[in-house]
Amino acid sequence: MTERYWGYTGRILRVDLTSGAISTEPLDLELAHKFVGGRGLGAKLLFDNLSPGTDPMSPENVLVFITGPLVGLPFFGAKHVVLTKSPLTGGFLDSYCGGHFASELKFAGFDGIIITGQAPEPCYLWVHNGKAELREAGDIWGKGCMQAEDMLKAAVKDERARVAVIGPAAENLVKFTHISTDYYHSCGRGGAGAVMGAKRLKAVVVRGAHSIRYADAGALCKFVCEEIEQRVLSDPNIANVVKYGKPLTMDYTNELGFCPTRNFQEGYFEAYTEIDGPAMRRKVVESDRGCFACNLPCGKFSRVKDGAFAGVCLVGPEYETNCLLGSNCGISYMEAIVQSNYLCDDLGLDVISAGNVIAFAMECYERGILTREDVGGLDLRFGNYRAVHEMIRMIAHRRGIGNLLAEGVKAAAQAIGHNCSDFAIQGKGLEFPGYDPRGVTGMALQYAVSDRGACHRRASPIRLERGMKRFTHEGRAQKFKELSDERIPMHCASMCDTVGGRYAKLTQKDFAFLFSAATGLDFSAEDIADLCDRVATLCLCFNLREGAPFTRQDNLSFWPRRMLEEPVPAGPAKGQVVSIPQLSIMLDEYYQLRGWDVKTGIPTRKTMARLRLEEEARQLAQVINVPEGD
Ligand code: SF4
Repeated sequence: MTERYWGYTGRILRVDLTSGAISTEPLDLELAHKFVGGRGLGAKLLFDNLSPGTDPMSPENVLVFITGPLVGLPFFGAKHVVLTKSPLTGGFLDSYCGGHFASELKFAGFDGIIITGQAPEPCYLWVHNGKAELREAGDIWGKGCMQAEDMLKAAVKDERARVAVIGPAAENLVKFTHISTDYYHSCGRGGAGAVMGAKRLKAVVVRGAHSIRYADAGALCKFVCEEIEQRVLSDPNIANVVKYGKPLTMDYTNELGFCPTRNFQEGYFEAYTEIDGPAMRRKVVESDRGCFACNLPCGKFSRVKDGAFAGVCLVGPEYETNCLLGSNCGISYMEAIVQSNYLCDDLGLDVISAGNVIAFAMECYERGILTREDVGGLDLRFGNYRAVHEMIRMIAHRRGIGNLLAEGVKAAAQAIGHNCSDFAIQGKGLEFPGYDPRGVTGMALQYAVSDRGACHRRASPIRLERGMKRFTHEGRAQKFKELSDERIPMHCASMCDTVGGRYAKLTQKDFAFLFSAATGLDFSAEDIADLCDRVATLCLCFNLREGAPFTRQDNLSFWPRRMLEEPVPAGPAKGQVVSIPQLSIMLDEYYQLRGWDVKTGIPTRKTMARLRLEEEARQLAQVINVPEGD
């Protein structure tokens, strides 16, 4: 390491699983200045290392594990980001995971890892104190995430090693599989686990004692101790966030009528107070849990006290779990949701997609499209939690109808036919998270323009619903862009957006200070604004280069018919649908704000030149007509 790397370790690990070759490359500081880390730098590494047109499940797909320059500091939490070409959308995927893996990867001596190829036999990657080796994983292959993590720690003889591991579902190439860390955290969305399974890479294990130096550690500490402390103390909601965690959102989505219920047939779950934050606290929560260096421990350690699932424990469930595996499956039995969550965690399924896929199958069953025989003899009606548990197992092991559902709701609906794509709730192949866009206009815009499919993490437009006139497009595109540009620096920093947004309320000016003080590179607030446009544009370029459906026309046409033609039947959002005329106006405004062509949604040459994305523009021009711009 040289003196000039502050905030970074300065090293990227490269692993070719096919040949077994492992090498180390210096971090390019020019790239670091342009893309910072996390989502930005990871997207650039993915764009540059992936051959256009690569099949996501082929050995040629690329997996990038990446951190950011603030990771390792004793505040702000820390996330690692996994980037790849998604097997669900065929486009860009960045998936974030809390816990301790990100900081440990840097302590092990690396800012990130680029993984290509396919191992001849199951293996795991052991990264420790600046070194790395591939080890045989035949005895661990097939094991659930929990047991596998224990076995890997024993294999490296270090209880404090950090593990990113896949479960049997990913080994079986289920398309919506996660990568688990610290038992209960995961890179959940988009199917990064399946890409790892296709590579026969069971796990990445990291451990180290490398120290990270910061350009101005004193200024960073002063900022946190004085400025951030003040912001936290003035926030009236912090105590509730810590007490109840993210399941608090259940009250909000029901009070405003956009809580997915029984496969998005309704927007209000009559029994939501059985599965919201206070109910969880009362019924199953034992203690609070935080990620690395986070003093806003929103994670809840829960244990079922009695009944059929007594003893089942985990960190969670989160709001999305209570929603997609609870209300969306018609289930209000909190302890049964804990069991569903545990099964998904251990077998390796993304809870959001799993809940959607199962709710879709339930609706098919209730409509008579799938018979009892089709679903393995289960009585797959909404509310039957035992059937949900069995369906999770069937999907993970690709048994019976589970083999079809394992492809994701979009592919499953196309295979089943009977017009059931009308109620297969997904955007560009990614199943919807826990917000019905018929009740939140800004969320409809987010699902339309998000570069990883129907995603809830690009911004948080639900926050607008209490402060603005509802069910209108007015002001939504501007606000969405602002919220999105709050998130992008956090995602590049690889920090938790709950901490950075809700807790620290970080602005672009703050990020200019933080990145400068951490790295010694010079960032202004204008640089951060450019970073936001650059990263959003780069991710879209990736999708367009890969031929994934992310043009303006695609953003208007992907919607399942239910969202467009079935009004929410009751509750505070009664009568609402996703309005294409409204969405069209929001797209116009959003594209203008981003400097993308309004007619096509394609970034213009002028914008890409301004953002110094010349190589991306050149590659894009080979597959699509790139507008000049004014
Ligand atoms: S706020 Fe929650 S998710 Fe974020 S770092 Fe802290 S514990 Fe982890």
